[in-house]
Amino acid sequence: MTVQPNSIEARDAAYHMHSYTNARVLEAEGPLIIEEGDGIYVTDNSGKRYIEGMSGLWSVAVGFGEDRLAKVANDQMRKLPYYHTFAQRSHTPSAELAEKLIQMAPVAMSKVYFTNSGSEANDTMVKLLWYRSNALGKPEKKKIISRIKGYHGITVASGSLTGLPYNHMSFDLPIPQVMHAGCPHYSAFAQDGESEADFVARLARELDELIQAEGPDTIAGFIGEPVMGAGGVIVPPEGYWKAIQDVLKKYDILLIADEVICGFGRTGQMFGSQTMGIEPDIMVLSKQLSSSYIPFSALMMNDRTYQPIADETARIGTFGHGFTGSGHPVGAAVSLENLKIIEENDLVGNAARMSPLFLDRLNRLAAHDLAKEMRGIGLIGALELHPQGDATGKAGPALVNACMERGLILRPLGDSVAFCPPLIITEDQVNQMFDIVDEAIASLSF
Ligand code: PMP
Repeated sequence: MTVQPNSIEARDAAYHMHSYTNARVLEAEGPLIIEEGDGIYVTDNSGKRYIEGMSGLWSVAVGFGEDRLAKVANDQMRKLPYYHTFAQRSHTPSAELAEKLIQMAPVAMSKVYFTNSGSEANDTMVKLLWYRSNALGKPEKKKIISRIKGYHGITVASGSLTGLPYNHMSFDLPIPQVMHAGCPHYSAFAQDGESEADFVARLARELDELIQAEGPDTIAGFIGEPVMGAGGVIVPPEGYWKAIQDVLKKYDILLIADEVICGFGRTGQMFGSQTMGIEPDIMVLSKQLSSSYIPFSALMMNDRTYQPIADETARIGTFGHGFTGSGHPVGAAVSLENLKIIEENDLVGNAARMSPLFLDRLNRLAAHDLAKEMRGIGLIGALELHPQGDATGKAGPALVNACMERGLILRPLGDSVAFCPPLIITEDQVNQMFDIVDEAIASLSF
């Protein structure tokens, strides 16, 4: 890519530091500028159209260019563009959305707390657990167990929960209260000759041993994505979540389901917790909650989580936590309308109906010589390629680039390539997407 002087690419490269980007490469090559979106497609500033096979960042459930969301945002901006939720203030969109989420919850939940990103929600979750343990007179109960390859965000606490090297390297993370248990990726981490059932039993045993070694009274919570996303789309083996929950129940450790990717239909049911048989104490929601038309996120907690926290606010006199944007009225109004669209258009049902074709096409790709395995459930999946040449991690980007040239945006995760199309995708569009991947993979030569 050559950057034209004074082009938007040149100005961006000159002034804009990007997320998840090699800053020196960006300075030299400039960014790709996406100009417009419509349905499952986005268009760049040269007019080239792409299928957005990742829904942006796993998030645009209802597709791009949904007028209903634009209208609701506009109406809310005119009526009440901003108000906060501190000091016993609220507004109708926040109140209605909280009620709606509690009604939708797959297990009995008591309260909703609003935040603006998945990271903020998880950071808040960590603070809620600490606050609750203090309220219960258990000041030593502060550690949180996450998992290797789990992704929970990038702020100081949530970045610590994340179990991926790039999120720790040179950031002096993780913080000492966070530990990482094993990752339920069978083919990557099974020992020689270990069956899936034995693998699950070992992960549960190792979790139990970790809790014993740290001291059960020091562990406040365990967090996991029902299906891991950014760590490589890892669908845990049968029985994994039951075995993990049995261990946590033994020691009275709260379970936090990070539904930031799985929530609102991605796995073919409304929540990943339903698909995976999880009964969480806290659920973390974002992305498809607002289809990312606006930054918005939420935590839902059950009564056993909430009550001690509420007592502590009464003892201290206030809950000393809150974001200027907590429960932002425009975000809440957009989220409510987005949930209406998901329900009225049965997008969860559509995800379930498209899933067999999606998984079949992914499975057929896995037969290619360069492919190692496919993973997937609902409308989320990954194709893992064999590592190429002297370094691992080159095959995924090579396939993603070959797809980009042919008009499909996917995301490399090391040697894997992730797929996560908008929930509105049709059968024809699933086929179009995989036809492009078939052609792209055939073009690769290593
Ligand atoms: N949790 C999960 C499961 C995620 O996938 C992400 C983002 N990819 C986050 C948390 C963090 O969300 P955000 O980027 O909005 O901070």
